[in-house]
Amino acid sequence: MIRLRRAVLSAGTAELLNGYTDDIRQQATEKERKERAKELWESRRQIRPALRAGLTEMAPGHERCMYCGDSQGTDIDHFEPKSLAPLRTFDWLNHLLACSFCNSNQKRNHFPLAPDGSPLLVDPTAEDPLDHLHLVLPVGTYRGLTDRGRACIEVFGLNTRTVLVKGRMDAYATAGIFMQQWRMTMDRGKSDEAKKIVRLAWNHPLVDVLVAMFHQSGHPAAGDLFAGEEEILDLLLDPELRAAFMHFRGVSY
Ligand SMILES: [Zn+2]
Repeated sequence: MIRLRRAVLSAGTAELLNGYTDDIRQQATEKERKERAKELWESRRQIRPALRAGLTEMAPGHERCMYCGDSQGTDIDHFEPKSLAPLRTFDWLNHLLACSFCNSNQKRNHFPLAPDGSPLLVDPTAEDPLDHLHLVLPVGTYRGLTDRGRACIEVFGLNTRTVLVKGRMDAYATAGIFMQQWRMTMDRGKSDEAKKIVRLAWNHPLVDVLVAMFHQSGHPAAGDLFAGEEEILDLLLDPELRAAFMHFRGVSY
């Protein structure tokens, strides 16, 4: 999971969403609101292409899932499930792009809450997952920094889905190769080719690994975190490389 910026919908789409929400709000009881939300979500499918286009724009790489970062995001996921929060069924701020595995096998209607009633899952469009999750790069598993990080690991199976763990380990090695290649290409004066390498690196699945690499390279204990990978740490700290990679996503880590 990486921090994502929410796209802006057209005024027409936003108006349609508000109309459906008003319809749900007008139902007399909570039970009726839930039924109406479900019915409208199923029957007003014409709204979905616009939502999907917005979500595709925001998603990492080529429409990757906003939770696992690995598979193609196929479903419009309701961060707060519509069965629990019917009034958020057509709330754009409640929509995320998820793969069917994260959505249907892992999250389903799980939406754990803290004792104060606030959501335990992290919405990557509302806050930075880096505040809650630490990726142990050499082994490809996550460590929860907070209760919320731990809830994400459990609900999405971030450490138990071995394809994700193995995939992150490969992504770590691949990112290192991209960076070495970028440095060599720049040293040969081929800046257009270097730009292509940056694009390939960010469009790779499991880009949470790349984000974690840049983030952890600035950590006081970076020497330990990258033990045995000193060459990669040097590249991550190369100001020219950092600037080129950060520029592509318009962020800094
Ligand atoms: Zn997923």
